[in-house]
Amino acid sequence: MLCLFCKKDAQGSRSVEHVVPESLGNTTMTLPAGTVCDACNNYFAVKVEKPFLESPSIVALRFHQAIPSKKRRIPPLEGAFGPDLPVTVYRHADGPLGGVISVPWEAMSYLPNGGKAVINLPAASDEWRVEEVSRFMAKAALESLAARLLDNPVGVHSLVADAQLDPIRDYARYGKGKLWPIHSRRIYEADKSWVLSTGETVQRVWESDFLHTSRGEVYYVLAVFGLELVINLLGPVVQGYQTWLAENRGMSPLYHGKNA
Ligand SMILES: [Zn+2]
Repeated sequence: MLCLFCKKDAQGSRSVEHVVPESLGNTTMTLPAGTVCDACNNYFAVKVEKPFLESPSIVALRFHQAIPSKKRRIPPLEGAFGPDLPVTVYRHADGPLGGVISVPWEAMSYLPNGGKAVINLPAASDEWRVEEVSRFMAKAALESLAARLLDNPVGVHSLVADAQLDPIRDYARYGKGKLWPIHSRRIYEADKSWVLSTGETVQRVWESDFLHTSRGEVYYVLAVFGLELVINLLGPVVQGYQTWLAENRGMSPLYHGKNA
């Protein structure tokens, strides 16, 4: 079997690839060993997923929504104490202790004065640096396509052979070519909860789908805490998505034509 990205033999590779990182709660959408080779898997973890997971907006979302990593750790958030002293706030995913605030020694001098301290933390924001998101989206798009074809080995093989997908493949793996634009917008509030048929209330951390337009374009749509991110699988342009939105009353392809 050839690797989806570098096209080298991936037969002996052992790593299971997560389409969306485990740190965002994904345990189900994975590619079996041999689909993405160990070298590409390691490269993506360090060079593509890490910058995405550590981008300030994703860290703030993971902190505020208390989403732990696969090691049950919620990323800490840097804030300010008093006028300008840096503090680090830690939240715990498990146990009775809610969290710990680490303050510098100088902060002690503020404490006797008012008795009340205010800590300012960055709010979750929808501002993204496209450099931190774009190659992650390219990787997730191609892998998500492969995940749909897992029952059909010829299908996954055809993705490796498909020259139309080489630009996005080489962009994800080698950063080749110019920066691919990402369309982003909020489709529901980050803390929105959904009631299941069992009566249980859940939050949606992520959801994804593909959009095939009548013009032959293919877009990968991923929402993280209601922030919808879109990449074009066939080229570094995303204007066609805006056109599609205008024609479809701004509805998200994640819900378009579905009983949601
Ligand atoms: Zn590879």
